Amino acid sequence: MHSVRIFFFLLISLPSFAQNDRRVVDSLVLEHPNSTEKVEKKRVAITIDDVPNTRSFEENGYQSKLLNLLDSAKVPVTIFINEGKLDYGKKRKNVKLLEDWIERPFVTPANHTFGHSRYSTVGFDEFVEDIEKGEELTASLAAKHNKNLRYFRFPYNDLGKDSAQQVQMQKFLSDNHYISTPFTIETSDWMFSAVYDRYLEKGDKEKAKEIGRMYVAETIRTFAFFDSLMRHQYGRSVNQIYLCHDNKLNEDYLSELLLGLEMEGYAFIDLDEAMRDEVYHQEDNYWKKWGISWCYRWMKPSERRSTMMKEPNLGGIEDRYHKEMEEK
Ligand SMILES: [Zn+2]
Repeated sequence: MHSVRIFFFLLISLPSFAQNDRRVVDSLVLEHPNSTEKVEKKRVAITIDDVPNTRSFEENGYQSKLLNLLDSAKVPVTIFINEGKLDYGKKRKNVKLLEDWIERPFVTPANHTFGHSRYSTVGFDEFVEDIEKGEELTASLAAKHNKNLRYFRFPYNDLGKDSAQQVQMQKFLSDNHYISTPFTIETSDWMFSAVYDRYLEKGDKEKAKEIGRMYVAETIRTFAFFDSLMRHQYGRSVNQIYLCHDNKLNEDYLSELLLGLEMEGYAFIDLDEAMRDEVYHQEDNYWKKWGISWCYRWMKPSERRSTMMKEPNLGGIEDRYHKEMEEK
């Protein structure tokens, strides 16, 4: 168990989204850090996809701002690596960047394919090649730092176009000592990041800041939604797995998000610990290619999954994303 230790230069105020909703269903309670309020103990593992961001690394004068932030936060993270990104820019420096990530004690390295291909489109043979190519360097760096390479995540969380394709790849993964990694919560941080980058490009710092704060607030709201959904399904909070990306938005706002989650009663655990929760030991009942949360995949068709999919609309970021991308 770890707690966030981040030094803030910005004072932020976050509404307590889960307040009306909160019921203590667990005998384990935590003292709220800044009040006498008792809050339910909740847990989340942070996972970061599309590591390393070599573009941002080069733009920041060969510094990984996200890694520097995590050094202060001391939160365990699992990173899903695309070795294909190492070719961007100065390769030797990029390899060193990857090793910098992997050698950190709080980092668990994982495979996310070499080229970020979409399984349902490329099919079994090409996808296997992409997985194998994706571990060439990572496996040796992991071994060098006494770590295992056991976790795999499908790009786009596309597990295959139908049950036959999905079963075939799950067998390949388990035969090759890989665990297919789920997620329960994601909030299209890549979309917020694209709009954020666009405002910064246009020199509109105020609007960029607005997007950053919206990302933090909407993500905390979405955590409250999924916690409430899981308590409805299982009568308790479950260990959540949050999926986000190695992007500029998280370089600038992940620390605020982590602080906000801590204020909502979350403790940060590693992926191994998260997956000890028995919710992760149940069957996946979803056979389509779309990258939906495992909270929905576990539901049986008779549970009318679509009626449960009522996530917050993320402050309308999708419309802003399309508008900004059209203008580009
Ligand atoms: Zn990805």
